[in-house]
Parts: sequence; C-alpha cells; structure tokens
Amino acid sequence: QSQEVSQVRIDYHAALQALQEHGTRMVCSGKMHTDRICRFDYLCYCTEAEEFVFFHGNSSVMLPNLGPRRFQPALLDLSSVEDHNTQYFNFLELPAAALKFMPKPVFVPDVTLIMNRFNPDNLMHIFHDDLLPIFYTMQQYSDLDDEARLVFMEGWGEGAHFDLYRLLSSKQPLLKEQLRNFGKLMCFTKSYVGLSKMTTWYQYGFVQPQGPKANILVSGNEVRQFAKTMMERMNVTREDRPEDDYIVVFSRSINRLILNEAELILALAQEFQMRTVTVSLEDQSFASVVQVISGASMLISMHGAQLVASLFLPRGAAVVELFPYAVNPEHYTPYKTLASLPGMDLQYAAWRNTIMENSVTYPERPWDQGGISHLEKEEQGRILASQEVPRHLCCRNPEWLFRIYQDTMVDIPSFLATLRRTVQIKPNGKKAKAASTVHPGRVREPKCQTSVQAANEAKLTVSWQIPWNLKYLKVREVKYEVWIQEQGENTYMPYILPHQNYTFSENIKPFTTYLVWVRCIFNKSLLGPFADVLLCKT
Ligand code: UDP
Repeated sequence: QSQEVSQVRIDYHAALQALQEHGTRMVCSGKMHTDRICRFDYLCYCTEAEEFVFFHGNSSVMLPNLGPRRFQPALLDLSSVEDHNTQYFNFLELPAAALKFMPKPVFVPDVTLIMNRFNPDNLMHIFHDDLLPIFYTMQQYSDLDDEARLVFMEGWGEGAHFDLYRLLSSKQPLLKEQLRNFGKLMCFTKSYVGLSKMTTWYQYGFVQPQGPKANILVSGNEVRQFAKTMMERMNVTREDRPEDDYIVVFSRSINRLILNEAELILALAQEFQMRTVTVSLEDQSFASVVQVISGASMLISMHGAQLVASLFLPRGAAVVELFPYAVNPEHYTPYKTLASLPGMDLQYAAWRNTIMENSVTYPERPWDQGGISHLEKEEQGRILASQEVPRHLCCRNPEWLFRIYQDTMVDIPSFLATLRRTVQIKPNGKKAKAASTVHPGRVREPKCQTSVQAANEAKLTVSWQIPWNLKYLKVREVKYEVWIQEQGENTYMPYILPHQNYTFSENIKPFTTYLVWVRCIFNKSLLGPFADVLLCKT
C-alpha cells in the first residue's frame, strides 16, 4: 500500500531536468517560525540522512531569506504545538549540481502536506493538535484538496486512531518510516510544510501551567463545521428523533475509573427521567461512539482525552466532567474551554471528588501511570497528605499523575447537587439552532449639534443613521452606545441608548470641545465598530 505513490502521472525525465535546472523554490507565510507555513516546489528528502534538502538552482527562491536566522531556533514548527523544540523543521542546502552524484530521486506527484502529529495515541491530541489543524490548513490552500497526500514526519507508527487521519484525504497518509520504501532521495513536486495553529484553543503547560491559549481564534462554528464533515466521512448520520432524549456516560475501562458506574447511571436516569447509556473506546468503534454522542442531551465523563468527543454533541447539550480527588477542575480546562467556545453552544459543569475515602490510589504503578513508590519516602508522604495538586508544568509531575490516575467512587448526592446547580437539560436541546453572529456595521452619518443655554448650561445632541446591514437583518434588540469625552481628559462617559439620537445636558459644559464616538450593538453582545469620532464644540 505504501508504494502506491504513482509515477505514471509525471514525466520523470522532465521532472528531473526541472529540478536540476531550476532547483527548489520556497515561499512562506508568517513572520515567525511559530506562525509559518511554507510552500515548496521540489523539496527533497534524503531518507538515509533523514534530512530535507533544498537544491539551489537557477530559479531557486527562498522566502523568507533568513540566512542563519533560519536556525534560531528553526524555520517553522512542524506540529501545531507552539515552539516545541522537538517539532522544528529545517532543511539542508545543496547546489543542484550535486544531484549528478546522488541517487536518482523518486518524485512524489501529489500535492503534499508535510507535518508532525503531536501525540497520535491520545484522542485529545489527535483532534486538537492534528485533525482540526490539518483540516483547516487544507482549507487555507486550495490545492490541498481531497487528493492531497499527508506525510507525518514525527516518526511514530500509525497510532490508535489512524482511521481518523485517513478521513482527511482520499490518499493513504505516509509515515516517516515508509519514506525509505521510495528510495534514498525523494522529491515532493509540490508541498506545504507546517500546520495552521488558528484552530487550537489550549496550551499544555510546557512553559507555563496548562490553560486556554491567550488568544483563541477559533469559534464553535469552525469546530462544528469540522465535526459535520468528519461525521459525513465516518458515515455517521444523526437519527432525528427529538422525543428520544438520552444521557451518555463515557466510561474508561483501563484506568481513572468510575467505581460505581451502575449506581451513577441509575441516579442519572432517575433524576432526569431519561435513558442513560454508556460508550467506551475499548468496546466499540470511534464512529459508533460519535453516533451515540451526536444525539445526546448530556455527556458525563472522567477528565480525559475521550472528552474531546464532546465536539460531536448537538447544540444545547451539557458536558459534565468528573475530577478525581485533589485535582482542581479549574487548573485543567481543555474540555471546558472547548465547550465554552463562542457558538459551540454547550453547557459545561465540573464535579470534583472531595472525599478522600472515595478514591482508590495506585502508588505501586509505573511512574507514567501515576505510581509514586519510586520517590523518596518524604516526598511520597507529602503527596499523600496533600489535598490539592499545586499548579505545575507538563508532563511528568508525579503528584499530578498520581492524583489523575486515581479511581473514583462518585458521591451521588454531591454529584446531583452539582448538576442541579449548573446544567439545564433542554428537552428540545437537540434542535437548538445556531445563534446569529452577524455584527452591526458602523452607524452612518453621525452628527452633533450643540447649544449653550446659560453660563453653566449647555446641550449636546448626537444623531446617526442605522448601520447599512441592519435593513437586511432581523435583530431582536438593536441598541447604540455613545462615548463622550471632554477634549484633553482621559476618561469618558459611556451611554447605552435605544434610539438614533439623544440630547445630553447633564455634565455638558458651555464653550467646551467634546469627542463623541457612536457604535451599534445587536442583542446585547454583538458590538459594531465605532464611527469616526465627532468633534462637538458647545
Ligand atoms: N483511554 C481510554 N480508556 C481508558 C484509558 C485511556 O479510552 O481507560 C484513552 C484516552 O481517551 C486517550 C488515551 O487512551 O485517548 C490515552 O489516555 P491517557 O490516560 O494517557 O491520557 P488522558 O486521557 O489523560 O489525556
């Protein structure tokens, strides 16, 4: 299978001649290595040296031309995880003339996306770091279409969910280890290197404790569009049976267990008068998990990568994340952040076990499954006595691993109390529609008129026309915001107004210049831009 890369579509002799004469061409986007994606003609890869090669020929282009800054620290990040020092991309340089002395290159005719998967054994990483970024990198470059070839250079095997990567293009993705099968030198006719980071919402704590990214650029809409496409490609169709509301418990059967799952399920069914089912990655295909989740009113799960599947929940559904003893939910929020993306339209609640006796620990396990018996006695004692894991960096903090791999007996009364306080099961949740995200345009023809009433009394009338796009929209609530600032002052007075004009008299002084800004607001939160500032002299 791996050798299916066909050479029939390209004229070998012509390709070789083009490479020898013209050399490699590279044009990139992005100012920094962390936001850069590069497009290449004739980027080559030497499988023996495990190095990419840029051949300098008569038509070579290298933009940006960074000189040695190309190594400070790298040309670009190969994975979507920002500035991770195991994920850098660079290439070696050679004169095209050197090709005469090298093994005959094998040309890859497909348009290729070359990148690293970050952790293809973990579902959260698969979706957040790979699938979504690949999906939207492909949308950014129109020749990365359904026929594009993905090449994974991180060096791992297929991993636990390779089928999901296969959904992104009709061609079989290539792994680094398979490149050897093509020979000693392969040349990608057209390729893109690197991944868009635009869709990621979480940083894993390599330089500061984990948390939402500082500047999230993705909304629920893009996540849902991605989810819709993935479901289509998995042949999952949501049966529309609106009267059939049900709850899903996502169970882990290897570790981080819910010890009283049956009791929990019974309590849920009773409390919400709904069918309650379980899904698990151990007993069923991922597609069938998605099928069930995509129709659920509520998803309950232990903290863990499987919760990324909540991106397949219907709008209006609730996500309930359970945390083992001594783990503070606010410190680990990848799934909360996902559920809270604007337009994701999911409710989110966290429940935390606060009863130590309801927890089962595994101090004897290997360190990567949370064991602590390899630590000094004193440190073990400190960890066992601690009631909360202090904030920490990724990825090997033993106290964190010890606590997160506990099994938990969920205290039903406190769990139900959390649910009653935080989630509302909407019977018609499944039919929830996306809220409008259309923002107002600028208000038009803003004007001010002034008059002086008396030595210490003046009026300022501001008026404007509705934004141009409003006449084509049905908006529940249209309001306007006016900011008034006395020239030279550094504070301003904000006003929210329902109509298109208003006369201000309080705090308006005669013979004073005011700066006035006006903008429109739809439905309380959709802010438009301010119109050009008005200079109003009383
Ligand atoms: N996993 C699972 N059931 C289990 C334990 C793990 O399905 O009982 C899956 C989990 O969803 C993830 C992968 O195995 O995709 C790795 O799990 P790990 O505990 O290492 O990571 P975490 O879930 O904490 O991110």
